[in-house]
Amino acid sequence: MSSISSARVGKSHKKITNKYLSDLKKKLSASNKKKETKQILNPEPASDSEDGGKDASHDDDEEKQIEKKKQEQEEENLKKSFRDFGLKDDILEAIEQLNFDKPTPIQAQSLGPALEGRDIIGIAQTGSGKTAAFAIPILQALWEAQTPYFACVLAPTRELAYQIRETFDALGSNMGLRCCTIVGGMDMMEQARELMRKPHVIVATPGRLMDHLENTKGFSLRALKFLVMDEADRLLELEFGPVLDKILQIIPRKRTTYLFSATLTSKIDKLQRASLHNPVKVAVNSKYSTVETLIQTLMVVPDGFKNTFLIYLLNEYVGKSVIIFTRTCAHAQNISLLGRILGFSAIPLHGQLSQAQRLGALNKFKSGDKSILVATDVAARGLDIPSVDLVINYDIPTDSKAYIHRVGRTARAGRSGKSVSLVTQYDLELILRIEKVINMKLPKEVPNKNEILALHDSVDRASAESIRQVKQFHSNRKIRRGN
Ligand code: AMP
Repeated sequence: MSSISSARVGKSHKKITNKYLSDLKKKLSASNKKKETKQILNPEPASDSEDGGKDASHDDDEEKQIEKKKQEQEEENLKKSFRDFGLKDDILEAIEQLNFDKPTPIQAQSLGPALEGRDIIGIAQTGSGKTAAFAIPILQALWEAQTPYFACVLAPTRELAYQIRETFDALGSNMGLRCCTIVGGMDMMEQARELMRKPHVIVATPGRLMDHLENTKGFSLRALKFLVMDEADRLLELEFGPVLDKILQIIPRKRTTYLFSATLTSKIDKLQRASLHNPVKVAVNSKYSTVETLIQTLMVVPDGFKNTFLIYLLNEYVGKSVIIFTRTCAHAQNISLLGRILGFSAIPLHGQLSQAQRLGALNKFKSGDKSILVATDVAARGLDIPSVDLVINYDIPTDSKAYIHRVGRTARAGRSGKSVSLVTQYDLELILRIEKVINMKLPKEVPNKNEILALHDSVDRASAESIRQVKQFHSNRKIRRGN
């Protein structure tokens, strides 16, 4: 039944996407003409035409003064403690229990305007504390109101949704917060029951949320006060576009909206679709940067030696916590098996696993039960996995932004960390593109040649064995299914 319905959904989704594309084109050309565009990008009121008479140097002075004031305000904000923001005691206590000594820069800059009720566009690196930056003002407002379906947080991946919910649970632990996670791959009925318990905060992936809005009796978001889009740039992409548009149409226009992301392009049409009202833009770090505590290197890998280089690195980091990123699910599966054959404690995480398997893998890695996670980009975005020591790019991502998200899994919240990219002759162009985006040349690291040669044969044999085992597994499955 599920495969039939998913095939139908696939077809209609394609139709919607095509229609969506043509609508978007129309909207885009219309949006060029719209005056309000300017206000969205620049929350300060546009100057009057009378100002046109002022000379350029006067404008320059004024701009400099505004910039100076802004900087002074930002420096002031950075000195503030959580208490200075006038947060409720229940929230302050929870913050203390979490050992957050002082607000991180994104929190320091966004809490003020958020608590005043402004819409926020927050641009901050992964690991900067952006989840608490949007959770705290929501909880502060909820403390007064305590109404069901008060806030909805949308995230592009299921794992991220679970993680956001954990932050809400922790920060709202002293005020009787009811929170629920609504994501695909989990039981609809159980989720419907949770929704009937009237949670204050719903953390969801867009598709499943829409399913419930359409099919779960008694559930609506008519009373919604806050909408958050985390990893907003991903949510505003075409993949989620049609569903997101539907959600935006049925929730109240009068609400507060937060867009948070490590990489947010301020494309006018996208912001308009997110329908923000006079938002404050808080950019803590320059575009597409990586944290200073992260050491990034690359290794140039000769043909046929990629697995040997990988195992060499795993030997160097034995007992430490490592994430290996691959481009495909098959690679993730193979590499995880290769690691296990060679005695490493590895577990795969990719989109072809069931949701329960994905969560299980993540939990095992988080708890330290497994020290190596082999993942596709499903795991790259937004996930807060504490104390990852090393990120290995087994395959170089074709999208430079994915590189930032991947390496952002380590060196989080002030800790140090390292990333190594395994670069073959076919990846040189991709690496050049990444270096341009991160504005630095990745230093080359050269492994010990003798160790590589000593490892090569046994790694080759183990690689062949892992491929054999994966093939065997697939053919056994076919036999079990009778085809
Ligand atoms: P995020 O960017 O929201 O994924 O958060 C990254 C990590 O920073 C999480 O482990 C948070 O618990 C932690 N964190 C958030 N805010 C603070 C803070 N003010 N002080 C210390 N750690 C924090």
